[in-house]
Amino acid sequence: MHSHVLQLDIQGTPQAWISLEAAALDYATGSVAWQHGEGPLARLRGGWNVAARRRSEIEIYPIIALRGTARVDLFTVPPLVTKARLCRRDRFTCAYCGQVFAERDLQCEHIIPESRGGKASWMNLVAACGPCNRAKADRTPEQAGMPLLYLPYVPNRFEAFLLEARGIRADVHDWLAARLPRGSRLPRLQ
Ligand SMILES: [Zn+2]
Repeated sequence: MHSHVLQLDIQGTPQAWISLEAAALDYATGSVAWQHGEGPLARLRGGWNVAARRRSEIEIYPIIALRGTARVDLFTVPPLVTKARLCRRDRFTCAYCGQVFAERDLQCEHIIPESRGGKASWMNLVAACGPCNRAKADRTPEQAGMPLLYLPYVPNRFEAFLLEARGIRADVHDWLAARLPRGSRLPRLQ
């Protein structure tokens, strides 16, 4: 739990979840421009500092921003759709009956059916329970007389990192949640 560090570029755009070891290397090479969090995630022992006659220690914070520019402008790349992320985006709620289900009881439902050219995209997928999915069948919501209870949307990058994380620390969660787009269904507070 809580063993991953949220790596940002210098402007604060999330780049990746990285390991403590990778973060330690960033600290050791002086790559960390700023850090954030209520306290260190971990303290790692470094080498002996002969002059100071003590062993150096690296405090690793749960959010670190690296110097320099990101090699890829990931901001423009929407996160890939997976069932786990879709279920989280849609709060484990069936888009047709509004009931909350476990992830295993939800399906990725194509709003416009695949047979009609509907794509597996954030804007054409919603979470739906098995009975609703079967009832809607190979039809659009209008044809099936089953209006959507909520609208799909493309998560922004901050939301994508929240959707990805498991066991995320409260201070990191709050930092990401404060940057969610309007209309996001994710809770602002954990
Ligand atoms: Zn349902």
